[in-house]
Amino acid sequence: MKKLSLTQKVVIAMILGAIVGLGINLLQFSKGGFIDSYIVHGLFLIIGKMFISALKMLVAPLVLFSLITGVLGIGDIKELGKVGVKTFLLYLLTTAIAIAIAVTLAASLHIGEGLHLTSSASFSAKEAPSLSQVLINIIPTNIFNALSHDNMLQIIFFAILFGISIIMVGVKAKPLVDVIEIVNEAMMKMVTIIMATAPIAVFALIAKAFATLGLDLFAKLLEYVGVLLLALALHLFITQMGLLKLLGRVSIKMFLNKAKEMQLFAFSTSSSNATIPVTMRVVTQKMGIDNSIASFTIPFGATINMDGTAIMQGVATVFIANVYGVDLGLSGYLTVILMATLASIGTAGVPGVGLVMLSMVFTQVHLPLEGIGLILGVDRLLDMARTIINVTGDAVVTLIVAKNEKKFNKAIFDNPNAGILIDDAISIDEKIEKELQQEITKLSKK
Ligand code: ASP
Repeated sequence: MKKLSLTQKVVIAMILGAIVGLGINLLQFSKGGFIDSYIVHGLFLIIGKMFISALKMLVAPLVLFSLITGVLGIGDIKELGKVGVKTFLLYLLTTAIAIAIAVTLAASLHIGEGLHLTSSASFSAKEAPSLSQVLINIIPTNIFNALSHDNMLQIIFFAILFGISIIMVGVKAKPLVDVIEIVNEAMMKMVTIIMATAPIAVFALIAKAFATLGLDLFAKLLEYVGVLLLALALHLFITQMGLLKLLGRVSIKMFLNKAKEMQLFAFSTSSSNATIPVTMRVVTQKMGIDNSIASFTIPFGATINMDGTAIMQGVATVFIANVYGVDLGLSGYLTVILMATLASIGTAGVPGVGLVMLSMVFTQVHLPLEGIGLILGVDRLLDMARTIINVTGDAVVTLIVAKNEKKFNKAIFDNPNAGILIDDAISIDEKIEKELQQEITKLSKK
């Protein structure tokens, strides 16, 4: 029998998880009963949380070491600046297009008009950072603090500066460069080890998510959910794939085939941040993008580039404005586009952060914050969906920038088997093991 690849196993796990989760949901087991407390909020919750923790554990060290390696790989400071500017502009552009699509679609379909909904859940807005705070926060006061809080922009800042400093030290730094490169390689191996547990974890994550969805809410909010999913799909297939074809000039089919792995992880974890290790692996090993580009653009994108989240802001704003009978007018819509784009820069890609950004947008256009309570109940699943679009956007821009910088290996991209994970991939090669044994015996005899 042909061995299944990891991606295939994850897809199967996901489908099974959805079936089991929906089954539990529809059978309406009592809250606090055996199934609810020991299976859904017991087993599923534990496995899912452990897996997400394991992924998150890798994020800070992986970003730090791969980015230092990346800076050493680019070597030229001017070059680095060019990559930064191009990436930033593309991220801004795609986010702005995303939200423009969302607002146009939602407004022209008049979603939410004539609906009389009352908010069942209360929503207390968390403070979203102001633009000046975002700028000040790019520079860490303490790098260990930045690492321990997974603060991407701060880690990026430190890693780039540290990389440049190592280059300035010159030949003397060679041993350190070797160490960093080896640590980076080992970190990537760790990613594959943790990814190998994904089928079980994804099953648990999806089963729990589906078991706890408020299905009746979906029926009530069908318009909102439908238009949001449509806008996400349009952005993926038209904007993102269009840009990929136009500026990246690669096969869309091949891209989507390879992107599937990170999209599945994004959907299951609903966190672009937790997906960083997987996204990095996919773009470097499956798509042939040089680490010198990806190590910067991927963590940068996970923080500042959220096309899917921006789309949610657009659709939600129009929907709630219509429900409350508020006419936003053209200037209101433009404010939404501007605010949502800016908001996406300052907030990290973690589950549910889209709602925090939404409260920022609402305050700007004077919509009642309680409105957010209306869509809260269906946000869990939509969060999963929009995270797919968020990480895909990061990968598209990464590929375009890498191609433009000639840091893209087309042969790897065109090879459908490149970087594919099957079980053997995580076992230690017998040859390597023997070599290691011999080295150790030699050393101990000395
Ligand atoms: N969960 C999303 C992400 O991590 C952010 C959001 O839309 O809430 O990319």
